[in-house]
Amino acid sequence: MNQLSANQLIKGARDFVNEPLFESLLNQKTDAGRIREIIAKSKNKEALTLEETAALLNADEPEFIEQIFDTARQLKKDVYGNRIVLFAPIYIGNYCTNDCTYCGFRRSNHEAVRRTLTTAELHEQILNMLKMGHKRTIAVFGEHPAYSPEYIAECVRQIYSVQYKNSSIRRVNINAAPLDHEGYRIVKEAGIGTYQVFQETYHHETYAKIHPAGTRKADYMWRLDSPARAIESGCDDVGIGVLFGLANWKFEVLGLVAHAIELMSRYRIGPHTISFPRLRPASGVSLPEVALHDVCDDDFLRLIAILRLSVPYTGLIVTAREPAPIRDKVLGFGVSQIDAGCRIEVGGYVESGDAQTQQVLEKAQFELGDVRPLDEVIRQLLENGYIPSFCTACYRLGRTGEVFMEYAKPGFIQNMCTPNALVTLQEYLVDFSSPETRTVGEALIQREVAMLPENKQRTVVLDRLERVRNSAERDLYF
Ligand code: SAM
Ligand code: SF4
Repeated sequence: MNQLSANQLIKGARDFVNEPLFESLLNQKTDAGRIREIIAKSKNKEALTLEETAALLNADEPEFIEQIFDTARQLKKDVYGNRIVLFAPIYIGNYCTNDCTYCGFRRSNHEAVRRTLTTAELHEQILNMLKMGHKRTIAVFGEHPAYSPEYIAECVRQIYSVQYKNSSIRRVNINAAPLDHEGYRIVKEAGIGTYQVFQETYHHETYAKIHPAGTRKADYMWRLDSPARAIESGCDDVGIGVLFGLANWKFEVLGLVAHAIELMSRYRIGPHTISFPRLRPASGVSLPEVALHDVCDDDFLRLIAILRLSVPYTGLIVTAREPAPIRDKVLGFGVSQIDAGCRIEVGGYVESGDAQTQQVLEKAQFELGDVRPLDEVIRQLLENGYIPSFCTACYRLGRTGEVFMEYAKPGFIQNMCTPNALVTLQEYLVDFSSPETRTVGEALIQREVAMLPENKQRTVVLDRLERVRNSAERDLYF
């Protein structure tokens, strides 16, 4: 650990990734009765311990795998309903002083086209995202002195300021390098939603191999500690994640769960979201040399279902790194957020044309797996019975961190979220959708409204849907 980060870690910081414990848990076989007890516990929406998560990871028998999938489906329905929240990333700058072996932005990749958007370019990008119908974005940066907290905060303010007709971005999340306490306070003041930092791998030896010594990112503890620093600084929606393929997937799931338990026990706030990208081809990256623990589709589905059981109240994100058929599958048993209609080149929403025909790898961090336009993804979701949601109400009404957890637990979220999802979907259908998508969407709204309980809330929802259809009024939320 270097001197700088040692000074800046939270008080009492500790490395909670106890490898000998993880290894021994992963080598234990649990009897069938205990596995049934653990599954029953998770059906009650209780978060699982490390020992319980390991027991599910080791339950390789088809009977238990099926039960885990069924329970994940049930939990998804009970906690999140049939909503899927949509967002898209905006890549602002790809200069980077790190040299992560798996990433197209790493400093030794001379094929990369380096660029940071100017303010005018950022406005243009956001304008194009707004024209597609986006309301939520995540701003992505390499790690570089130019991308200071003040700079990131200014980008956030610029993004919020862009207007297209009566539409604007309503939630800006961040995926950037770990900050110190003061840095997190600065970006929080700009009104960010979630601050995401992925540990990439919780396995110490692997971490050291892929993040060369002498780079900022080589400091494992600085990164491991960063969600805690963010929470202490007021960013109480934090996102954690693993880049799957670098180390054993079961070990990584224990790392994620240990991280969630650590945050929960310190602050009574778990991670707001967990992401689980799988390694993708990238410019200048030799995938076979990096992806030594490739995760096959079957194991990928299992790990998502197990996470759903272990952390029932944490949002699970699957990005467009995954191909459409896999994304469609995992929506049913755990995932609550997806990105769609993404361009991941710096400047991509203006300059790169249609992602389906033209992905410029040298400008991007990795290759996308799902390149469908937003409208197509929305139509597919609707046809499969999901409500695509652009809702941003919670963080704007202060329902974040611990408060969010309190709302989430008694099922409040479903009562507020379904109405908010329907109203934001109605906005999309009126303002941005193709005629085909609108037809399917209006039918879904009618079906969903018919299922709302006959009460005052239902009357308000009907009124808001009508106002969005027939007037320029927008952004009505509970
Ligand atoms: N530079 C910041 C950092 O490293 O935290 C921002 C993150 S980076 C722009 C976003 C994430 O993309 C990384 O945390 C990593 O998990 C993921 N990533 C990098 N290379 C990838 C690849 N080849 N395939 C899939 N995901 C990748
Ligand atoms: Fe830089 Fe982040 Fe890519 Fe590593 S993952 S090279 S820190 S952009």
